[in-house]
Amino acid sequence: MQRFSTDGLVLKTKATGESDLIVFLLTEKKGIVRAFAKGARGMKNKLHTACVPFTYASFGLYEKNDVYNITEADLKESFFDIRTDLSRLSLGQYFCEVVLKTMTEEADEADCYRLMLRCVYYLSQGKKDLLLIKSVFEMRLAVISGYAPPVHACANCGAFSTEKMYFDCESGLLYCSDCGDAQNLPEIGEAVVSAMRHIVYSPFDRLFAFTLSDQSLRTLTRMTQTYLQNCMQTRFSVLDYFWTSYS
Ligand SMILES: [Zn+2]
Repeated sequence: MQRFSTDGLVLKTKATGESDLIVFLLTEKKGIVRAFAKGARGMKNKLHTACVPFTYASFGLYEKNDVYNITEADLKESFFDIRTDLSRLSLGQYFCEVVLKTMTEEADEADCYRLMLRCVYYLSQGKKDLLLIKSVFEMRLAVISGYAPPVHACANCGAFSTEKMYFDCESGLLYCSDCGDAQNLPEIGEAVVSAMRHIVYSPFDRLFAFTLSDQSLRTLTRMTQTYLQNCMQTRFSVLDYFWTSYS
């Protein structure tokens, strides 16, 4: 039996037994940890308040026969305000589903961990545009997962910038106005190209430091959403709730 403690963000919980939970945590050093929380559905149980989606806490665990069990949970941040708004809630659930689908168990997932915590923080804070948070999450997660699109220049001729450019959401390739014109690809303006490059190449601490007009942000997020879904070969139906509730 091995005991350890780790900070983690709760991505999902699943009821099991009479009052127990299976908790899916995102951790920095062990990736996704799936752990059993005995009695955690009981209102008076000491694990109850920490074993809730979006909660960030310090967990004490032990491992026995490849099964993790949570014995302690020290709540650090509940990010409660995500639940006060359907758009924020559905977007947060989407982030959790994507992370559960893409990240692995027993692996160092520090980049994803850092990205997810920052996104959840901004969702809860409610000051940043949701489409900006969504676009950054989608494109940067694709990068972290090994699908960095080569958006530094036109994939065909190497042109850095033309007034309009084209992005292929299947291949992740960028084309200039001459090379992309005949390919029936979605057209994007310079501002969207710059934002894409920023998300792909900027250091983490500057990742969210850009602005775009509403219209450009909608174009950007359509691209990032389609590109990520193509990379993951998955359609996330929770996004339907987000787009229905987002105004
Ligand atoms: Zn070109």
